[in-house]
Amino acid sequence: MPIDATLPYDAGNIFARILRGEIPAKTVYEDDHALAFHDINPQAPVHILVIPKGAYVSWDDFSARGSEAEIAGFVRAVGHVAREQGLVAPGYRLLANIGGHGGQEVPHLHVHLFGGRPLGMMVPA
Ligand code: AMP
Repeated sequence: MPIDATLPYDAGNIFARILRGEIPAKTVYEDDHALAFHDINPQAPVHILVIPKGAYVSWDDFSARGSEAEIAGFVRAVGHVAREQGLVAPGYRLLANIGGHGGQEVPHLHVHLFGGRPLGMMVPA
């Protein structure tokens, strides 16, 4: 069920629990601003999620309330993970779902990194 991205942050969400170490994740990268881990239900040969460490519901929330340092750190981390995973030369896709029409299920901002094969249409019909 997609979330309402206008609701306040829910500290019980699954990615908040991963950040607190309450639930395991297959981490591929971590720094002061971001955590990256493999998606539990991969939709491509490479499917990694990158999340900010701060409590932000969505891209909308983060872009409105995030500090310059958090935003810069997060964007740098996403690029770093893609390079580290060897995705740049073959190409890859970034995706952030926001709210109902975006199909966002987890109410903590995450960017999906897809790669490892040609990814086809940008938005299914
Ligand atoms: P979204 O629809 O953009 O909110 O995507 C949520 C993503 O989180 C989905 O691709 C799920 O497979 C993934 N996911 C949910 N729970 C976990 C988990 N515990 N570890 C890793 N990925 C997860």
